[in-house]
Amino acid sequence: MKRQTVRNLIILFMFLLMPLALKFFSPVMVLRSASVGVIAASTVTIIIMFFAGMFSGRLWCGWVCPAGGIQDAVAKTYHAKDSHESLNKLKYVLFFIQIILLVAFLYLSGTVQFDYFYNMGFGLTSTLDWIVYLTMIMLFFILPITLGKRSYCRHICLIAPVMIWGQKLGRKLGIKHKVINFNEDACIHCNKCNKACPMHIDVMKNTEGKLTVSSPECITCYACVDACPKKALQ
Ligand code: SF4
Ligand code: SF4
Ligand code: SF4
Repeated sequence: MKRQTVRNLIILFMFLLMPLALKFFSPVMVLRSASVGVIAASTVTIIIMFFAGMFSGRLWCGWVCPAGGIQDAVAKTYHAKDSHESLNKLKYVLFFIQIILLVAFLYLSGTVQFDYFYNMGFGLTSTLDWIVYLTMIMLFFILPITLGKRSYCRHICLIAPVMIWGQKLGRKLGIKHKVINFNEDACIHCNKCNKACPMHIDVMKNTEGKLTVSSPECITCYACVDACPKKALQ
């Protein structure tokens, strides 16, 4: 089976599990539990994703996360003009706001407890759960239509910054990650890699003078590798 088919099937499977998995990844749950002095699953996820980034870069984003998959499907159907790269910084600002609120809520609650399964239930068990779920689904549809490919991932996702920082630290510590190698001599500048990239990375520009794709936004999905007719990307 082709690599991109396998990737899309994994993501589709994860999409079906999304109502069950949402509370493990929800920024709303981070703040909701903190408001009553509880550190719960979603907060732990931030730490886990940092370590995941250290050891596997952003493989999660490319191969598992259903939020990315929905946006890929929308972007393929609706070819929106892509937003400017400078908007990518927004996610760092939002992340710091989340951390400030998290600390403030825990401080104001006057207590800090650890309860991994706080308010977990089975799937979407309250009106708030449904509001969060439907709002997220709506964003995954609206943002790629208005701001281009995976614009939620590039501009807003609060998990992306920790994975990027983890990835950088991992590289500094010498932990080997999967990288996309570039052979400039084989390249015919057909631009197919750029078109295939779900993260709107200018693969050619990114590899200029280098031997690998080095963008922190690269999710190691291999879409560029599989789209290259000359095997210039490996
Ligand atoms: S950036 Fe966030 S939303 Fe996008 S694929 Fe990664 S974890 Fe999922
Ligand atoms: S798809 Fe391959 S040959 Fe075409 S521009 Fe990209 S690297 Fe070069
Ligand atoms: S540069 Fe290639 S591997 Fe990285 S995100 Fe884009 S298509 Fe995927």
